[in-house]
Amino acid sequence: TSPTTLPTSERLTQIARASLDRCGVDVDALGGEVTNRSPINGESVFSVAYGDETTVKLAVERAQDAFKQWRVVPAPVRGALVKRFGELLVEHKDDIATFISLEVGKITSEARGEVQEMIDICDFAVGLSRQIGGSTMPSERPGHRLMETWHPLGVVGVISAFNFPAAVWSWNTAIALVCGDPVIWKPSELTPMTSAACAALLDRAVRDVEAPRYVSQLVIGAQEVGQVLVDDPGVALVSATGSTRMGNLVGPRVAERFGRSLLELGGNNAAVVTGSADLDLTMRGIVFSAAGTAGQRCTTMRRVIAHRSIVDDLSERLAGAYSRLPIGDPMADGTLVGPMVHQQAYEKMTRAIDSAKEAGGSLIVGGGRRLADAAPNAYYAEPAIVRIDEQAPIVREETFAPLLYVLPYDDLDEAIALQNDVPQGLSASIFTQDQAEAERFLSSEGADCGIVNVNIGTSGAEIGGAFGGEKHTGGGRESGSDAWRAYMRRATNTVNYSGELPLAQGVDFTV
Ligand code: NAD
Repeated sequence: TSPTTLPTSERLTQIARASLDRCGVDVDALGGEVTNRSPINGESVFSVAYGDETTVKLAVERAQDAFKQWRVVPAPVRGALVKRFGELLVEHKDDIATFISLEVGKITSEARGEVQEMIDICDFAVGLSRQIGGSTMPSERPGHRLMETWHPLGVVGVISAFNFPAAVWSWNTAIALVCGDPVIWKPSELTPMTSAACAALLDRAVRDVEAPRYVSQLVIGAQEVGQVLVDDPGVALVSATGSTRMGNLVGPRVAERFGRSLLELGGNNAAVVTGSADLDLTMRGIVFSAAGTAGQRCTTMRRVIAHRSIVDDLSERLAGAYSRLPIGDPMADGTLVGPMVHQQAYEKMTRAIDSAKEAGGSLIVGGGRRLADAAPNAYYAEPAIVRIDEQAPIVREETFAPLLYVLPYDDLDEAIALQNDVPQGLSASIFTQDQAEAERFLSSEGADCGIVNVNIGTSGAEIGGAFGGEKHTGGGRESGSDAWRAYMRRATNTVNYSGELPLAQGVDFTV
Protein backbone atom coordinates (compact mmCIF):
# COMPACT_ATOMS: atom_id res chain seq x y z
CA THR A 1 0.00 0.00 0.00
CA SER A 2 1.22 3.49 -0.75
CA PRO A 3 1.33 6.06 2.03
CA THR A 4 -1.21 8.82 1.42
CA THR A 5 0.05 11.43 3.87
CA LEU A 6 3.25 13.40 3.73
CA PRO A 7 5.27 15.00 6.52
CA THR A 8 4.77 18.72 7.19
CA SER A 9 7.56 21.25 6.63
CA GLU A 10 7.81 21.79 10.40
CA ARG A 11 8.49 18.08 10.82
CA LEU A 12 11.09 18.04 8.01
CA THR A 13 12.81 21.17 9.36
CA GLN A 14 12.93 19.59 12.80
CA ILE A 15 14.51 16.41 11.39
CA ALA A 16 17.02 18.47 9.37
CA ARG A 17 18.03 20.64 12.33
CA ALA A 18 18.65 17.64 14.55
CA SER A 19 20.83 15.96 11.92
CA LEU A 20 22.71 19.20 11.13
CA ASP A 21 23.49 19.59 14.83
CA ARG A 22 24.68 16.01 15.16
CA CYS A 23 26.99 16.43 12.14
CA GLY A 24 28.46 19.61 13.67
CA VAL A 25 27.15 22.08 11.08
CA ASP A 26 27.13 25.71 12.21
CA VAL A 27 23.46 26.26 11.37
CA ASP A 28 23.66 30.06 11.79
CA ALA A 29 26.58 30.33 9.36
CA LEU A 30 24.74 28.13 6.84
CA GLY A 31 21.49 30.09 6.95
CA GLY A 32 20.76 32.80 4.37
CA GLU A 33 18.46 34.17 1.73
CA VAL A 34 17.97 31.23 -0.61
CA THR A 35 15.07 28.90 0.12
CA ASN A 36 15.67 25.21 -0.11
CA ARG A 37 12.61 23.08 -0.89
CA SER A 38 12.18 19.41 -0.12
CA PRO A 39 10.76 17.31 -2.95
CA ILE A 40 8.97 15.25 -0.27
CA ASN A 41 6.28 17.89 0.26
CA GLY A 42 7.43 20.57 -2.18
CA GLU A 43 7.72 23.17 0.57
CA SER A 44 10.53 25.23 2.03
CA VAL A 45 12.55 23.43 4.68
CA PHE A 46 15.61 25.59 5.13
CA SER A 47 17.27 28.75 3.84
CA VAL A 48 20.93 28.90 2.92
CA ALA A 49 23.47 31.56 1.98
CA TYR A 50 25.24 31.40 -1.39
CA GLY A 51 28.90 32.09 -1.96
CA ASP A 52 30.07 34.43 -4.73
CA GLU A 53 33.13 35.13 -6.84
CA THR A 54 35.09 36.45 -3.83
CA THR A 55 34.28 33.34 -1.82
CA VAL A 56 35.55 31.08 -4.60
CA LYS A 57 38.73 33.13 -5.19
CA LEU A 58 39.54 33.01 -1.48
CA ALA A 59 38.89 29.28 -1.38
CA VAL A 60 41.29 28.73 -4.30
CA GLU A 61 44.03 30.78 -2.61
CA ARG A 62 43.60 28.85 0.62
CA ALA A 63 43.57 25.53 -1.23
CA GLN A 64 46.79 26.41 -3.03
CA ASP A 65 48.50 27.09 0.28
CA ALA A 66 47.13 23.83 1.65
CA PHE A 67 48.44 22.04 -1.45
CA LYS A 68 52.02 23.10 -0.65
CA GLN A 69 51.71 21.43 2.75
CA TRP A 70 49.63 18.43 1.75
CA ARG A 71 51.70 17.31 -1.25
CA VAL A 72 54.72 16.58 0.99
CA VAL A 73 52.75 14.56 3.54
CA PRO A 74 53.42 10.86 2.78
CA ALA A 75 50.48 9.22 1.02
CA PRO A 76 49.83 6.62 3.77
CA VAL A 77 49.64 9.49 6.29
CA ARG A 78 47.19 11.27 4.00
CA GLY A 79 45.25 8.01 4.06
CA ALA A 80 44.76 8.44 7.81
CA LEU A 81 42.55 11.49 7.12
CA VAL A 82 40.33 9.49 4.78
CA LYS A 83 40.23 6.62 7.29
CA ARG A 84 38.95 8.99 10.00
CA PHE A 85 36.39 10.45 7.59
CA GLY A 86 35.14 6.95 6.81
CA GLU A 87 34.70 6.26 10.55
CA LEU A 88 32.64 9.43 10.94
CA LEU A 89 30.48 8.42 7.98
CA VAL A 90 29.76 5.07 9.64
CA GLU A 91 28.76 6.94 12.80
CA HIS A 92 26.54 9.41 10.90
CA LYS A 93 25.21 7.13 8.18
CA ASP A 94 21.60 7.82 9.11
CA ASP A 95 22.12 11.58 9.37
CA ILE A 96 23.57 11.86 5.87
CA ALA A 97 20.93 9.46 4.52
CA THR A 98 18.25 11.71 6.05
CA PHE A 99 19.52 14.71 4.08
CA ILE A 100 19.64 12.68 0.88
CA SER A 101 16.00 11.73 1.38
CA LEU A 102 15.04 15.28 2.37
CA GLU A 103 16.73 17.01 -0.55
CA VAL A 104 16.58 14.42 -3.35
CA GLY A 105 13.58 12.34 -2.28
CA LYS A 106 15.45 9.01 -2.27
CA ILE A 107 13.86 6.17 -0.33
CA THR A 108 15.68 5.41 2.93
CA SER A 109 17.27 2.19 1.68
CA GLU A 110 18.78 3.92 -1.36
CA ALA A 111 19.84 6.95 0.67
CA ARG A 112 21.65 4.66 3.10
CA GLY A 113 23.13 2.83 0.12
CA GLU A 114 24.56 6.11 -1.12
CA VAL A 115 26.28 6.66 2.24
CA GLN A 116 27.54 3.07 2.19
CA GLU A 117 29.14 3.86 -1.15
CA MET A 118 30.96 6.77 0.53
CA ILE A 119 32.22 4.47 3.27
CA ASP A 120 33.35 1.95 0.64
CA ILE A 121 35.30 4.55 -1.35
CA CYS A 122 37.04 5.66 1.86
CA ASP A 123 38.16 2.06 2.46
CA PHE A 124 39.32 1.82 -1.13
CA ALA A 125 41.24 5.12 -0.92
CA VAL A 126 42.94 4.16 2.34
CA GLY A 127 44.25 0.98 0.68
CA LEU A 128 45.24 2.98 -2.37
CA SER A 129 47.30 5.34 -0.21
CA ARG A 130 49.83 2.51 0.16
CA GLN A 131 49.65 1.37 -3.45
CA ILE A 132 49.79 4.41 -5.74
CA GLY A 133 52.82 3.91 -7.90
CA GLY A 134 54.35 3.90 -11.34
CA SER A 135 56.25 1.34 -13.39
CA THR A 136 59.93 0.83 -13.97
CA MET A 137 60.74 0.04 -17.61
CA PRO A 138 63.95 -1.45 -19.04
CA SER A 139 66.19 1.31 -20.37
CA GLU A 140 67.94 0.70 -23.71
CA ARG A 141 71.11 2.22 -22.24
CA PRO A 142 73.45 0.33 -19.87
CA GLY A 143 73.65 1.69 -16.31
CA HIS A 144 70.39 3.62 -16.65
CA ARG A 145 67.07 3.35 -14.89
CA LEU A 146 63.84 4.40 -16.63
CA MET A 147 60.78 4.85 -14.46
CA GLU A 148 57.72 6.94 -13.86
CA THR A 149 56.62 8.68 -10.69
CA TRP A 150 53.20 10.04 -9.82
CA HIS A 151 52.91 13.33 -7.96
CA PRO A 152 50.00 15.29 -6.52
CA LEU A 153 48.35 17.39 -9.23
CA GLY A 154 47.02 20.49 -7.44
CA VAL A 155 43.66 21.90 -6.41
CA VAL A 156 40.65 19.83 -7.48
CA GLY A 157 37.29 21.55 -8.04
CA VAL A 158 34.33 19.20 -7.69
CA ILE A 159 30.99 20.21 -9.19
CA SER A 160 28.27 17.71 -8.36
CA ALA A 161 24.73 16.89 -9.54
CA PHE A 162 21.62 16.79 -7.37
CA ASN A 163 20.88 13.09 -7.74
CA PHE A 164 24.01 11.76 -6.01
CA PRO A 165 24.51 14.71 -3.68
CA ALA A 166 27.07 13.02 -1.43
CA ALA A 167 28.59 9.94 -3.11
CA VAL A 168 29.96 11.70 -6.20
CA TRP A 169 31.82 14.23 -4.06
CA SER A 170 33.21 11.43 -1.87
CA TRP A 171 34.46 9.44 -4.89
CA ASN A 172 36.43 12.49 -5.94
CA THR A 173 37.45 13.66 -2.50
CA ALA A 174 38.61 10.39 -0.95
CA ILE A 175 40.82 9.69 -3.97
CA ALA A 176 42.02 13.30 -4.42
CA LEU A 177 43.02 13.55 -0.75
CA VAL A 178 45.19 10.42 -0.78
CA CYS A 179 46.66 11.63 -4.08
CA GLY A 180 47.75 14.83 -2.28
CA ASP A 181 45.20 17.27 -3.73
CA PRO A 182 43.00 19.71 -1.77
CA VAL A 183 39.35 19.79 -2.84
CA ILE A 184 36.88 22.66 -3.29
CA TRP A 185 33.28 21.46 -3.65
CA LYS A 186 30.47 23.27 -5.45
CA PRO A 187 27.46 21.02 -4.85
CA SER A 188 24.13 21.16 -6.65
CA GLU A 189 22.05 24.15 -5.61
CA LEU A 190 19.29 21.64 -4.80
CA THR A 191 21.28 19.84 -2.09
CA PRO A 192 23.02 22.37 0.20
CA MET A 193 22.21 20.65 3.51
CA THR A 194 23.61 17.30 2.40
CA SER A 195 26.83 19.00 1.35
CA ALA A 196 27.07 21.07 4.54
CA ALA A 197 26.69 17.93 6.65
CA CYS A 198 29.27 15.94 4.64
CA ALA A 199 31.74 18.83 4.66
CA ALA A 200 31.32 19.27 8.43
CA LEU A 201 32.21 15.62 8.99
CA LEU A 202 35.31 15.91 6.81
CA ASP A 203 36.28 19.13 8.64
CA ARG A 204 36.05 17.20 11.88
CA ALA A 205 38.30 14.47 10.47
CA VAL A 206 40.77 17.19 9.34
CA ARG A 207 40.91 18.52 12.91
CA ASP A 208 41.14 15.06 14.45
CA VAL A 209 44.21 14.05 12.41
CA GLU A 210 45.66 17.59 12.32
CA ALA A 211 45.70 17.85 8.54
CA PRO A 212 46.00 21.32 6.93
CA ARG A 213 42.76 23.24 7.56
CA TYR A 214 41.92 23.97 3.91
CA VAL A 215 42.40 20.58 2.24
CA SER A 216 38.60 20.47 2.06
CA GLN A 217 36.35 23.46 1.36
CA LEU A 218 32.72 23.88 0.44
CA VAL A 219 31.25 26.73 -1.58
CA ILE A 220 27.46 26.60 -1.87
CA GLY A 221 25.95 28.39 -4.84
CA ALA A 222 24.34 28.22 -8.25
CA GLN A 223 26.07 27.62 -11.56
CA GLU A 224 27.66 31.12 -11.57
CA VAL A 225 29.73 30.01 -8.58
CA GLY A 226 30.67 26.84 -10.45
CA GLN A 227 31.78 28.93 -13.41
CA VAL A 228 34.26 30.90 -11.30
CA LEU A 229 35.80 27.62 -10.18
CA VAL A 230 35.88 26.38 -13.78
CA ASP A 231 37.70 29.49 -15.02
CA ASP A 232 40.23 29.83 -12.19
CA PRO A 233 43.72 28.84 -13.38
CA GLY A 234 44.50 27.88 -9.79
CA VAL A 235 42.22 24.84 -10.14
CA ALA A 236 44.24 22.06 -11.75
CA LEU A 237 41.39 19.59 -12.24
CA VAL A 238 37.70 20.30 -12.60
CA SER A 239 35.67 17.17 -11.95
CA ALA A 240 32.13 17.95 -13.05
CA THR A 241 29.11 15.68 -12.81
CA GLY A 242 25.80 16.67 -14.33
CA SER A 243 23.97 17.09 -17.59
CA THR A 244 25.62 16.96 -21.01
CA ARG A 245 24.50 20.58 -21.40
CA MET A 246 26.65 21.51 -18.39
CA GLY A 247 29.60 19.45 -19.70
CA ASN A 248 29.38 21.24 -23.02
CA LEU A 249 29.84 24.55 -21.24
CA VAL A 250 32.44 23.43 -18.71
CA GLY A 251 34.70 21.20 -20.87
CA PRO A 252 35.75 23.83 -23.45
CA ARG A 253 36.28 26.52 -20.79
CA VAL A 254 38.67 24.33 -18.82
CA ALA A 255 40.42 23.24 -22.03
CA GLU A 256 40.86 26.88 -23.07
CA ARG A 257 43.12 27.48 -20.08
CA PHE A 258 44.81 24.06 -20.52
CA GLY A 259 43.30 22.80 -17.26
CA ARG A 260 42.31 19.20 -16.82
CA SER A 261 38.68 18.15 -16.68
CA LEU A 262 36.92 14.95 -15.69
CA LEU A 263 33.38 14.91 -17.04
CA GLU A 264 30.62 12.58 -15.83
CA LEU A 265 27.54 13.49 -17.84
CA GLY A 266 24.18 12.15 -18.95
CA GLY A 267 23.31 8.62 -19.97
CA ASN A 268 20.65 6.93 -22.08
CA ASN A 269 21.10 3.41 -20.84
CA ALA A 270 19.59 0.35 -22.48
CA ALA A 271 19.05 -3.31 -21.76
CA VAL A 272 18.96 -5.80 -24.60
CA VAL A 273 16.68 -8.71 -23.66
CA THR A 274 17.24 -11.73 -25.88
CA GLY A 275 14.88 -14.59 -26.59
CA SER A 276 16.76 -16.87 -24.15
CA ALA A 277 16.61 -14.49 -21.15
CA ASP A 278 15.23 -15.59 -17.78
CA LEU A 279 12.24 -13.26 -17.79
CA ASP A 280 11.63 -13.27 -14.02
CA LEU A 281 15.15 -12.15 -13.27
CA THR A 282 15.08 -9.74 -16.21
CA MET A 283 11.89 -8.14 -15.03
CA ARG A 284 13.27 -7.54 -11.53
CA GLY A 285 16.50 -6.14 -12.97
CA ILE A 286 14.62 -3.77 -15.23
CA VAL A 287 12.17 -2.50 -12.60
CA PHE A 288 14.94 -1.60 -10.15
CA SER A 289 17.03 0.11 -12.83
CA ALA A 290 14.18 1.93 -14.58
CA ALA A 291 11.76 2.90 -11.80
CA GLY A 292 14.14 2.95 -8.79
CA THR A 293 15.31 6.37 -7.58
CA ALA A 294 12.23 7.66 -9.48
CA GLY A 295 14.28 7.30 -12.68
CA GLN A 296 16.78 9.90 -11.50
CA ARG A 297 20.10 8.07 -11.71
CA CYS A 298 22.60 8.74 -14.47
CA THR A 299 22.59 4.96 -14.97
CA THR A 300 18.79 4.64 -14.91
CA MET A 301 17.57 2.26 -17.60
CA ARG A 302 15.74 4.33 -20.19
CA ARG A 303 15.39 1.82 -23.03
CA VAL A 304 14.60 -1.89 -23.25
CA ILE A 305 15.41 -3.48 -26.60
CA ALA A 306 13.61 -6.81 -26.48
CA HIS A 307 13.55 -9.71 -28.96
CA ARG A 308 10.28 -9.76 -30.87
CA SER A 309 9.50 -13.28 -29.58
CA ILE A 310 9.28 -12.07 -25.95
CA VAL A 311 8.58 -8.35 -26.18
CA ASP A 312 4.82 -8.67 -25.56
CA ASP A 313 5.22 -11.04 -22.63
CA LEU A 314 7.93 -8.87 -21.07
CA SER A 315 5.94 -5.65 -21.56
CA GLU A 316 2.93 -7.22 -19.88
CA ARG A 317 4.96 -8.40 -16.89
CA LEU A 318 6.64 -5.01 -16.56
CA ALA A 319 3.31 -3.19 -16.71
CA GLY A 320 2.00 -5.49 -13.95
CA ALA A 321 5.01 -4.82 -11.73
CA TYR A 322 4.83 -1.07 -12.39
CA SER A 323 1.20 -0.90 -11.39
CA ARG A 324 2.07 -2.47 -8.01
CA LEU A 325 4.95 -0.08 -7.15
CA PRO A 326 4.40 1.67 -3.80
CA ILE A 327 4.80 5.40 -4.53
CA GLY A 328 4.93 8.01 -1.78
CA ASP A 329 6.84 9.44 1.18
CA PRO A 330 10.40 8.17 0.62
CA MET A 331 11.05 8.03 4.35
CA ALA A 332 8.05 5.80 5.03
CA ASP A 333 8.48 2.04 5.35
CA GLY A 334 7.62 0.11 2.23
CA THR A 335 7.89 2.96 -0.30
CA LEU A 336 9.88 2.04 -3.41
CA VAL A 337 9.35 5.16 -5.49
CA GLY A 338 9.69 8.64 -4.02
CA PRO A 339 9.08 12.02 -5.62
CA MET A 340 10.71 13.60 -8.62
CA VAL A 341 13.00 16.43 -7.70
CA HIS A 342 10.79 19.31 -8.86
CA GLN A 343 7.96 20.44 -11.13
CA GLN A 344 10.17 21.01 -14.20
CA ALA A 345 11.46 17.43 -13.97
CA TYR A 346 7.91 16.07 -13.93
CA GLU A 347 6.85 18.35 -16.79
CA LYS A 348 9.80 17.14 -18.89
CA MET A 349 8.56 13.61 -18.33
CA THR A 350 5.02 14.37 -19.46
CA ARG A 351 6.31 16.29 -22.49
CA ALA A 352 8.52 13.33 -23.41
CA ILE A 353 5.54 10.96 -23.18
CA ASP A 354 3.56 13.27 -25.48
CA SER A 355 6.43 13.43 -28.00
CA ALA A 356 6.81 9.65 -27.94
CA LYS A 357 3.08 9.24 -28.61
CA GLU A 358 3.33 11.66 -31.53
CA ALA A 359 6.18 9.51 -32.87
CA GLY A 360 3.93 6.44 -32.84
CA GLY A 361 4.50 5.16 -29.30
CA SER A 362 1.80 4.00 -26.91
CA LEU A 363 1.77 4.51 -23.16
CA ILE A 364 1.15 1.13 -21.58
CA VAL A 365 1.38 2.07 -17.89
CA GLY A 366 1.95 5.06 -15.59
CA GLY A 367 2.65 8.69 -16.38
CA GLY A 368 0.09 10.08 -13.93
CA ARG A 369 0.73 12.09 -10.81
CA ARG A 370 0.02 10.98 -7.23
CA LEU A 371 -0.48 12.86 -3.96
CA ALA A 372 -1.16 16.19 -5.69
CA ASP A 373 -3.93 16.93 -3.17
CA ALA A 374 -1.73 16.17 -0.17
CA ALA A 375 1.15 18.24 -1.56
CA PRO A 376 0.40 20.49 -4.56
CA ASN A 377 4.08 21.45 -4.96
CA ALA A 378 5.48 17.93 -4.75
CA TYR A 379 5.69 15.74 -7.86
CA TYR A 380 5.11 12.04 -7.34
CA ALA A 381 5.12 10.52 -10.84
CA GLU A 382 3.85 7.07 -11.67
CA PRO A 383 6.77 5.36 -13.44
CA ALA A 384 5.80 4.99 -17.09
CA ILE A 385 6.43 2.60 -19.97
CA VAL A 386 6.01 3.51 -23.63
CA ARG A 387 6.00 0.84 -26.35
CA ILE A 388 7.52 2.23 -29.53
CA ASP A 389 8.75 0.54 -32.71
CA GLU A 390 11.32 3.10 -33.85
CA GLN A 391 14.10 4.82 -31.95
CA ALA A 392 12.47 8.24 -32.44
CA PRO A 393 14.41 11.45 -31.62
CA ILE A 394 12.83 11.70 -28.14
CA VAL A 395 14.05 8.16 -27.34
CA ARG A 396 17.60 9.20 -28.20
CA GLU A 397 17.47 12.01 -25.58
CA GLU A 398 18.01 11.59 -21.86
CA THR A 399 14.75 12.40 -20.06
CA PHE A 400 15.73 12.39 -16.39
CA ALA A 401 12.58 10.66 -15.17
CA PRO A 402 11.04 7.22 -14.58
CA LEU A 403 10.16 6.79 -18.24
CA LEU A 404 11.09 3.58 -20.01
CA TYR A 405 10.82 2.94 -23.75
CA VAL A 406 10.39 -0.64 -24.95
CA LEU A 407 11.50 -1.37 -28.53
CA PRO A 408 11.44 -4.68 -30.44
CA TYR A 409 14.33 -6.20 -32.42
CA ASP A 410 14.80 -9.23 -34.67
CA ASP A 411 18.52 -10.04 -34.61
CA LEU A 412 21.31 -9.26 -32.18
CA ASP A 413 23.27 -7.04 -34.60
CA GLU A 414 20.22 -4.84 -34.91
CA ALA A 415 19.80 -4.75 -31.11
CA ILE A 416 23.45 -3.73 -30.59
CA ALA A 417 23.15 -1.09 -33.31
CA LEU A 418 20.05 0.35 -31.59
CA GLN A 419 21.78 0.31 -28.19
CA ASN A 420 24.73 2.24 -29.64
CA ASP A 421 22.71 4.63 -31.80
CA VAL A 422 22.32 7.32 -29.13
CA PRO A 423 24.65 10.22 -28.35
CA GLN A 424 25.34 9.01 -24.79
CA GLY A 425 27.52 6.03 -23.76
CA LEU A 426 27.26 5.38 -20.03
CA SER A 427 25.76 1.98 -19.18
CA ALA A 428 24.28 -0.99 -21.05
CA SER A 429 23.09 -4.49 -20.12
CA ILE A 430 22.21 -7.71 -21.83
CA PHE A 431 19.83 -10.27 -20.37
CA THR A 432 20.53 -13.66 -21.93
CA GLN A 433 21.31 -17.27 -21.09
CA ASP A 434 23.29 -17.71 -24.29
CA GLN A 435 27.00 -17.20 -23.60
CA ALA A 436 27.82 -16.33 -27.20
CA GLU A 437 25.28 -13.49 -27.14
CA ALA A 438 26.70 -12.18 -23.87
CA GLU A 439 30.27 -12.31 -25.17
CA ARG A 440 29.37 -10.47 -28.37
CA PHE A 441 27.67 -7.76 -26.35
CA LEU A 442 30.83 -7.34 -24.21
CA SER A 443 33.20 -7.46 -27.21
CA SER A 444 34.77 -4.68 -29.29
CA GLU A 445 31.80 -4.84 -31.68
CA GLY A 446 29.32 -4.86 -28.81
CA ALA A 447 27.93 -2.12 -26.57
CA ASP A 448 29.94 1.12 -26.76
CA CYS A 449 29.46 2.20 -23.13
CA GLY A 450 31.82 2.66 -20.18
CA ILE A 451 29.79 0.15 -18.14
CA VAL A 452 28.50 -3.06 -19.78
CA ASN A 453 26.71 -5.72 -17.73
CA VAL A 454 25.30 -9.22 -18.19
CA ASN A 455 22.12 -10.34 -16.42
CA ILE A 456 21.94 -7.32 -14.14
CA GLY A 457 20.48 -3.89 -14.81
CA THR A 458 22.30 -0.77 -15.93
CA SER A 459 22.37 0.91 -12.49
CA GLY A 460 23.86 0.17 -9.10
CA ALA A 461 27.61 0.03 -9.78
CA GLU A 462 30.16 -0.97 -7.12
CA ILE A 463 33.03 1.38 -6.24
CA GLY A 464 35.79 -1.13 -7.09
CA GLY A 465 35.48 -0.55 -10.84
CA ALA A 466 36.10 2.66 -12.77
CA PHE A 467 32.85 4.58 -13.28
CA GLY A 468 32.00 6.69 -16.31
CA GLY A 469 31.09 6.60 -19.96
CA GLU A 470 31.91 7.51 -23.52
CA LYS A 471 30.61 9.95 -26.16
CA HIS A 472 28.31 12.63 -24.70
CA THR A 473 28.73 11.07 -21.25
CA GLY A 474 32.07 12.88 -21.24
CA GLY A 475 34.76 10.16 -21.17
CA GLY A 476 35.73 10.63 -17.50
CA ARG A 477 36.39 7.79 -15.07
CA GLU A 478 35.97 8.08 -11.31
CA SER A 479 35.93 5.84 -8.28
CA GLY A 480 37.88 2.55 -8.33
CA SER A 481 40.39 0.77 -10.58
CA ASP A 482 43.04 3.24 -11.84
CA ALA A 483 40.75 6.30 -11.85
CA TRP A 484 43.19 7.87 -9.34
CA ARG A 485 45.52 8.72 -12.23
CA ALA A 486 43.30 11.66 -13.19
CA TYR A 487 44.17 13.29 -9.85
CA MET A 488 47.95 13.05 -10.25
CA ARG A 489 50.65 14.21 -12.64
CA ARG A 490 53.09 11.72 -14.09
CA ALA A 491 56.82 12.30 -14.53
CA THR A 492 59.05 10.00 -16.56
CA ASN A 493 62.53 9.79 -15.02
CA THR A 494 65.79 8.55 -16.54
CA VAL A 495 68.59 8.03 -14.02
CA ASN A 496 72.14 7.47 -15.30
CA TYR A 497 74.46 5.66 -12.89
CA SER A 498 76.92 4.42 -15.57
CA GLY A 499 79.54 7.18 -15.47
CA GLU A 500 79.26 7.33 -19.29
CA LEU A 501 76.87 9.38 -21.42
CA PRO A 502 75.41 7.06 -24.07
CA LEU A 503 72.59 8.76 -26.03
CA ALA A 504 69.26 7.12 -26.82
CA GLN A 505 68.64 5.75 -30.32
CA GLY A 506 72.46 5.45 -30.75
CA VAL A 507 72.82 9.16 -31.53
CA ASP A 508 76.49 10.22 -31.73
CA PHE A 509 77.23 13.75 -30.45
CA THR A 510 80.88 13.70 -29.43
CA VAL A 511 82.51 17.07 -28.85
P1 NAD B 1 23.01 19.95 -13.97
O1 NAD B 1 23.85 19.86 -15.19
O2 NAD B 1 21.81 20.81 -14.01
O3 NAD B 1 23.91 20.48 -12.74
C1 NAD B 1 25.02 19.77 -12.27
C2 NAD B 1 25.96 20.71 -11.55
O4 NAD B 1 26.60 21.58 -12.50
C3 NAD B 1 25.29 21.63 -10.53
O5 NAD B 1 26.13 21.75 -9.40
C4 NAD B 1 25.19 22.95 -11.29
O6 NAD B 1 25.15 24.08 -10.45
C5 NAD B 1 26.48 22.92 -12.08
N1 NAD B 1 26.50 23.73 -13.31
C6 NAD B 1 25.53 23.84 -14.24
N2 NAD B 1 25.95 24.63 -15.25
C7 NAD B 1 27.22 25.01 -14.95
C8 NAD B 1 28.19 25.84 -15.59
N3 NAD B 1 27.94 26.44 -16.76
N4 NAD B 1 29.39 26.02 -14.99
C9 NAD B 1 29.66 25.41 -13.82
N5 NAD B 1 28.78 24.64 -13.15
C10 NAD B 1 27.57 24.45 -13.71
O7 NAD B 1 22.63 18.45 -13.58
P2 NAD B 1 21.58 17.93 -12.48
O8 NAD B 1 20.20 18.17 -12.93
O9 NAD B 1 22.00 18.37 -11.13
O10 NAD B 1 21.89 16.34 -12.52
C11 NAD B 1 21.31 15.46 -13.43
C12 NAD B 1 22.24 15.16 -14.59
O11 NAD B 1 23.50 14.70 -14.11
C13 NAD B 1 21.73 14.06 -15.50
O12 NAD B 1 22.00 14.41 -16.83
C14 NAD B 1 22.54 12.85 -15.07
O13 NAD B 1 22.65 11.84 -16.04
C15 NAD B 1 23.85 13.48 -14.76
N6 NAD B 1 24.66 12.67 -13.85
C16 NAD B 1 25.74 12.00 -14.36
C17 NAD B 1 26.50 11.18 -13.54
C18 NAD B 1 27.68 10.42 -14.08
O14 NAD B 1 28.47 9.96 -13.28
N7 NAD B 1 27.84 10.27 -15.38
C19 NAD B 1 26.17 11.05 -12.19
C20 NAD B 1 25.06 11.75 -11.70
C21 NAD B 1 24.32 12.56 -12.55
